[in-house]
Amino acid sequence: TEHNDGRAQARSKELFAAACEVIPGGVNSPVRAFASVGGQPPFIRKATGCHVVTEDGAALIDYVGSWGPALLGHAHPEVVEAVIKAARDGLSFGAATAAEVDFAELICEFVPSLRGGMVRLVSSGTEATMSALRLARGYTGRNKIIKCAGGYHGHADMLLVAAGSGAATLNIPGSAGVPPDAVHDTLLVPYNNAEAVAELFAAHPGEIAAIIVEPVAGNMGCIPPLPGYLERLREITRREGAVLIFDEVMTGFRVAPGGAQERFGVTPDLTCLGKIVGGGMPVGAYGGPREIMSKIAPLGPVYQAGTLSGNPLSVAAGLETLRLIKRDKPHEALEAATLRLTKGLAERAAKHGIAWTDVAVGAMFGFFFVAGEVHDYEEAKRSDLDRFAAFHSEMLRRGVYLAPSQFEAGFVSTAHDDAAIEQTLAAADGAFEALAGA
Ligand code: PMP
Repeated sequence: TEHNDGRAQARSKELFAAACEVIPGGVNSPVRAFASVGGQPPFIRKATGCHVVTEDGAALIDYVGSWGPALLGHAHPEVVEAVIKAARDGLSFGAATAAEVDFAELICEFVPSLRGGMVRLVSSGTEATMSALRLARGYTGRNKIIKCAGGYHGHADMLLVAAGSGAATLNIPGSAGVPPDAVHDTLLVPYNNAEAVAELFAAHPGEIAAIIVEPVAGNMGCIPPLPGYLERLREITRREGAVLIFDEVMTGFRVAPGGAQERFGVTPDLTCLGKIVGGGMPVGAYGGPREIMSKIAPLGPVYQAGTLSGNPLSVAAGLETLRLIKRDKPHEALEAATLRLTKGLAERAAKHGIAWTDVAVGAMFGFFFVAGEVHDYEEAKRSDLDRFAAFHSEMLRRGVYLAPSQFEAGFVSTAHDDAAIEQTLAAADGAFEALAGA
């Protein structure tokens, strides 16, 4: 309908113009600017369930989910209630609270590598990965780290090398302002290539502290691990005395209750969490076995701190979210809904003769405008980016809000019911038809 036309954006246009005067690019995180899909971003007034409502009055079916946190849908009543209740008792104390203990215990119960271990709360995914790498270096006494090309682990200096997500979208996979020394010890491998990792260990014996990897890649588009890949990383790091870090900021609580490590049965040494763990509030976390975690201050020599770490509002939102996941066990239904979506999209793409590949892992999905499987960032870049941009705007026009970049993943929530999926597929049918005719 006209009302739901994502492009009829008079108020959003005004707001974006005003925003661009006082906020760089009008946004507080780059991909939100819609730079690679043309047009300009709708401003969001509110969100409930599987919908975001724009300042122009359009209710859009949302597959961004705040970039991952909204597993239970937006403004879940019980989560909102928990936050309001906590807020009445004070926003932040910078001191230990009972709820933090409950929260840490529950996180450690969910995530296999944290069982019997410890977890430290921070306020973003960036802080989680940055701190886990410092810990891995402090623990091993080694300096070099390995990351995957197209992998994104937040915006710490040492990780802005061949970075995915917004850095890939804007074609600035490194960053100005990062001193060469900061990335000197960062080594690169293609995703899904364990032999490249083995070769780096052979070339730098005793020097590599850790490999950090998204166990399901989500920032070069969505790419699942090939069978045996994660297992092989586990073997190599164990043999070499290096720390295996799974960055489960995106996959944690999403591809299975215990994350990718549970789904694929491979247990890392350290795990990084973010997004869902905060239920929509700023939370990150990193954890692992006591032996490694006891190197962190105040127990050990690796320093890491945060004024707002473990603040009562964030903890309330995260704790209630995990409690609801534990109580309602939504993952089977989430996976079914996600498959229904990706299968339906593939059928409609085929019907209109559009080259298309899709991926679904739990409640996470992706698609590329290319025929055949995609295994790494180089292959992801072969997707037809013009087609992606056209598809994105055709879908938005039809009331579906997808991540505005090929190099991002999509997220399904428990609020995406059959009607929402059917509406999405009807929109896709029209969008593919427009693409085929263009
Ligand atoms: N790691 C991964 C896998 C991510 O997807 C992201 C964010 N998209 C981060 C780390 C960084 O998290 P944040 O934006 O909360 O700093």
